[in-house]
Amino acid sequence: MQFRGGSDHLIITPVSTPSTLLNEAARRLRQAGHVVVFTGAGASAESGVPTFRDRGGVWDRFPPEQFATPQGLRDTALTHPRRVAEFVLGLIEPIAAASPNAGHFAVARMARHARVTVVTQNIDGLHQDAGSPEVHEVHGSLFEIVTLGGEPLRRVSRTQLRQVVTELRQVLQEPFTTARALEAVKPILGIGACGFHRPNIVLFGEPMAEPAWTLAADAAAGCDCMLTVGASGAVFPAASLPEEAHARGAEVIAIGPERTLATCWLKGSAAATLPTLVDAAFGTDR
Ligand code: NAD
Repeated sequence: MQFRGGSDHLIITPVSTPSTLLNEAARRLRQAGHVVVFTGAGASAESGVPTFRDRGGVWDRFPPEQFATPQGLRDTALTHPRRVAEFVLGLIEPIAAASPNAGHFAVARMARHARVTVVTQNIDGLHQDAGSPEVHEVHGSLFEIVTLGGEPLRRVSRTQLRQVVTELRQVLQEPFTTARALEAVKPILGIGACGFHRPNIVLFGEPMAEPAWTLAADAAAGCDCMLTVGASGAVFPAASLPEEAHARGAEVIAIGPERTLATCWLKGSAAATLPTLVDAAFGTDR
């Protein structure tokens, strides 16, 4: 994956009152035969998992070129191992503590009424925890541990992740040693019986997670409505999916605080706007 500047492909944002827009988006959703819900970091912000790019986010403290590319991370680990331990803690602590928000549950509820495929850039497992049946994690998952070659080894639970957080916190409170940090993160990262292992998450410059990416691209090309939630449109190739869906004639409804590529933009947060939209489209059946 890689960064690009903000999308300049904005298509139509109808000038309308918020409630008219919401009703129009609900109508389009109801009429769709296949909905793809495409989520980015903003979808989990109200679960306590901060986005990386917003002010005070991970990229402010840990520049992606040093911490989120394979080479950068290797170099930083050799020269500043404590900083890498802090980065790992900053990445996993909010996810270990998180639970789905009202937006994740609304997406899961939508699948009772329509064919819904969730395509997520997130690595936090929250759509699955909310009950969404079909989820493609195109940037991988923090809970899936793989070999250096990408072969699946095992899954870790959120409870096990919390244990790693506790151990790593302890290591960072004491005089730092790399050996103790490596021991703390061993359940998810390090050298074990099968050689080097790591979480199956996509760093910048790495290929997208498979088969999730192929399935996501197929879904985007075949859907008639894409609902994008909390995705900046600046992380590629994931951000090409709404463009692809729109090029093939699908409606693209966007939810988030910033305007992104869409035929209809609902300005608002995921946890507040998604339940209202799903209620308006399919009724309240909680
Ligand atoms: P991104 O490109 O998905 O941008 C986040 C977007 O969410 C921004 O446009 C922001 O305005 C919007 N947003 C913020 N709060 C919101 C809210 N409450 N409701 C709706 N939208 C909101 O992601 P990024 O932060 O640049 O991260 C880059 C990559 O890192 C992601 O694609 C993802 O792979 C990974 N990441 C994952 C998680 C996670 O698993 N929860 C969190 C951060 C980053």
